[in-house]
This record gives sequence, structure tokens and C-alpha cells, in this order.
Amino acid sequence: MGEVIETTNLTKRYGSLTAVDRLSLSVHSGEVFALLGPNGAGKTTTIRMLTGLARPTAGQARVLGLDLRRDIVRIKKQVGVVPERSNLYDELSAWENLIFVAQLYGVPRRERAARADALLHRFRLEDKRDVPFARLSRGMRRALTVAAALIHRPRLLFLDEPTVGLDVVSAHGLRALIGRLREEGVTVFLTTHYLEEAGRLADRVALLVQGRIVALDTVNGLKARVRQGVMVEVRLSDGNGEELLRLQGTEIEAVLQAALARARAEGKQVVGVSTLQPTLEDAFIKLTGLSVEVMLAEKGGRW
Ligand code: ATP
Repeated sequence: MGEVIETTNLTKRYGSLTAVDRLSLSVHSGEVFALLGPNGAGKTTTIRMLTGLARPTAGQARVLGLDLRRDIVRIKKQVGVVPERSNLYDELSAWENLIFVAQLYGVPRRERAARADALLHRFRLEDKRDVPFARLSRGMRRALTVAAALIHRPRLLFLDEPTVGLDVVSAHGLRALIGRLREEGVTVFLTTHYLEEAGRLADRVALLVQGRIVALDTVNGLKARVRQGVMVEVRLSDGNGEELLRLQGTEIEAVLQAALARARAEGKQVVGVSTLQPTLEDAFIKLTGLSVEVMLAEKGGRW
């Protein structure tokens, strides 16, 4: 399994502000990697550096085996990028935008139309073929922007906050698409400030706070760091009403026995049992010291 992205102490400073601070990470071939962090953490700056839109102040990076400083033109040709704000043209139609981007990426002329049609089909935008970009819905604009980023069949796709501002259905569709791209072997590097999105989509997550990685692990690995034994929730009934009992311990059997003993002692019946797993939110709070509200604060994402 090769490394598709490797950064070593990658740093970006704007004057006295360090937007990205000695970032060191590797992204494995074929995985979905999420950079998760609150607003201003440095997520967009990281993507901009890795895609040649911002020059690193210090540090190194290799993308698809190529050196970021020396081979940026080749890197740009080989990766797909979906920026936070679309880079497509308002006045061009869906189809024209795809053809334009195909030209830009040097897709052979005879293949352009077929690829554009296939992508319109895949993204269910066939009937919007001739509609100007500006007149598509927000979800369609995002879908077309992703489609455009795939026209040259990149092995690596960067997605900056892919679902910000999308309704639930469009966001779900886009997440499903990311899952399918992964199955096709495309490596996906995405940024998000949605914990749930990172938890659902990503193989591995880097928590980024003020330009620094505070944790980097699989979703389960991050959760395991906050696991302290087991937590069992037991619903007790005395015939009139129910009561919820939460018990924690190291062994599930002992916890259940304690719950049963307590029920018996109080003359109640156990009517429901569930075990609680730590969530990515628990991990986030523990690892960053930040409140979840910091992450949930809706961004004014314009698209
Ligand atoms: P968001 O989720 O809000 O997009 P982010 O994690 O993507 O946040 P960045 O956009 O990378 O964060 O910004 C990181 C920091 O760098 C912020 O403090 C931001 O103000 C600063 N910054 C970003 N771009 C520039 C720039 N061109 N000039 C000066 N400061 C910048």
C-alpha cells in the first residue's frame, strides 16, 4: 500500500499567523482520509498547499510520489480538486463546463464528449445538460463541481467541505458517491467540520486544531482512546412508570449483574438494556479540549 500523500512539517504562515503548523501525515492509497477541525483550523490552507494554490512557508510534501515544490504542474494535472467554492463558470452550461475542464486537463479531444456525458449521467444531471451553471440548484452545482473534478480520472481527489450548505438528501447523495469512489480505488482527501461526516466516511481522521494535528487515527482508534470500560443503560419499570439507569464498569457481565440486583432490590423489572459506545464526539472533546458546539457551528458556506 503506497502513500499517496506524505507531508513532513508542512507549514504555512501568513505574517505572524501560523495557519498550518508543522503538519506531518501520510495518506494511504485507496483510503478516505478526513481532516476534521473547527473553522480556521487550517483545513483549506492544507488543501490549497497540496494542490499548488498556496506555497508552503516550510516543510515538505509529496503527492502521488511527486515533490510538491518541484513537480507542482504535474501534480495539478493528476489530482482532482473540489474547492469550497466552485471554480466553474456561471454562464457556461453544465456540459460546456465539463468540456472546458476536460480541455484544461488535457483530456484527448475525442474522449471529452463521452466523458462529459457519462459524468452527467452518473450525477443524474442529464436533463440539466444545457442549463447554465448559475441556474442549477445548490446541490446540482456541487454535484457538477465534483463531476468536473473527475473528468481526467484522477487517482486522488481533494474535497474541501463537500457537504456544507447542502440539504440532507444532496449531502447523503454526495457521501454515497464518495463511498463509491473509494470502492473504485480513488483516494479521497476531504476536509470537514462535521464530526458525523468524518465518522461515517473516513477510514482515518486527523483532528486539526489551530493548524496542528492533535490526533490521527482510524475512527475506531479515536473512539477507543476515550473508552473507559463499558457503559450500560438499563430501563427499569415498576409497573407504573419507567426509570433509566446508567451503570459503568470494566466488565459487561458484572455491570449487568449489578443492574439486575438493583432491580430486584427495588422490586422492579428490567424492560430494556443497551450498551453505549463512545462516539467520535466524545473522542473529539477529550482529545481537543474543545466543545462540540465549536464544530457544529454552521458555517456561512457560500456556493
Ligand atoms: P474554515 O472551516 O473556516 O474554512 P479552515 O480550517 O479551512 O477553516 P483556513 O481557511 O485554512 O481554515 O484558515 C486558517 C487560518 O489562516 C485562519 O486563521 C485564516 O484567517 C488564515 N488565512 C487563510 N488564508 C489566508 C490568507 N490568504 N491570508 C491571511 N490569512 C489567511
